[in-house]
Amino acid sequence: TMRESYASENDSGFKCLNPDLRSIVVVGGNGQLGKLFCKLFSLSGYDVKVLGSQDWDRADEILADAGMVVVTVPINRTDTIIRKLNTLPDDCILADLTSIKSEPLQAMLESHNGPVVGLHPMFGPNIPSLAKQVVVYCDGRNPEAYQWLLEQIRIWGATLHRISAIEHDQGMTLIQALRHFTSFVYGVHLAEENPNLSQLIALSSPIYRLELAMVGRLFAQDAQLYADIIMSSPQNLDMIKRFHARFGEAIALLESDDKAEFVGAFGQVENWFGDYADRFLRESQSLLQQANDSTQR
Ligand code: NAD
Repeated sequence: TMRESYASENDSGFKCLNPDLRSIVVVGGNGQLGKLFCKLFSLSGYDVKVLGSQDWDRADEILADAGMVVVTVPINRTDTIIRKLNTLPDDCILADLTSIKSEPLQAMLESHNGPVVGLHPMFGPNIPSLAKQVVVYCDGRNPEAYQWLLEQIRIWGATLHRISAIEHDQGMTLIQALRHFTSFVYGVHLAEENPNLSQLIALSSPIYRLELAMVGRLFAQDAQLYADIIMSSPQNLDMIKRFHARFGEAIALLESDDKAEFVGAFGQVENWFGDYADRFLRESQSLLQQANDSTQR
């Protein structure tokens, strides 16, 4: 299986698809995601160098023989840092791992004349392997120059998904910004209401326990990263405001005490989900079964 082949290759390193590449410079390589990618590149036989926040006085030296530069710094500094990378060798590949794609891709295209590709790993730094994980990529310039990189990521076990930067960012408005924001607000609400959490858990059905876990896990992670993701674009705020307005409409529905209208609205959403409603019911049942089997009490 893929997991087994990952484990066995991981011991001896991965196959190197571009052994002639000059060094890979990871800007932000001491960070969480940066460390993971440094490790994967090193295990694949590449010469990896880190350009950390304290290294800019030596940047020319570190970047001089770069065959590829990968930017993985806090979102709010990404644009400024990419714009400093404007004297790379012409054949050098410039890539980034940022959770948003339009702005960094634009900055990379403006800063560098050579090959450019935007990557978004859809996982955090703590995964045991890349098997079954997805890496999204957005073509920037000269895709033929970085096909080996995409293939290298496949060798690590991940699936690649190509998308335009604009569509990516629109998707992330729902998948990341709105979802993390609603978890944040639910957490704020719980903290303010201050229920006895262990008692709530004791009273919980498996699905509510899972919902609590989905919310609670946010607060075990980095606040700055989530602030940056949620506040990364004005579209996110617009989306969140529309969601808020719909809460207001739904509350008005409750206040009117009109069950027939509630049932009507419910039916419209049911229609919108179509076949997915049943599919999701079955899928969540098997997930809940697994969660039940593995819950630590
Ligand atoms: P992090 O804070 O752990 O790492 C960022 C690193 O950048 C740090 O080592 C920091 O010292 C360094 N840095 C800051 N300023 C710098 C500068 N001027 N020059 C060089 N280095 C500098 O953050 P992270 O979680 O690893 O996130 C990095 C990127 O990865 C972000 O763009 C984020 O959107 C993306 N990302 C993160 C995750 C995740 O779950 N952590 C998932 C997908 C994508």
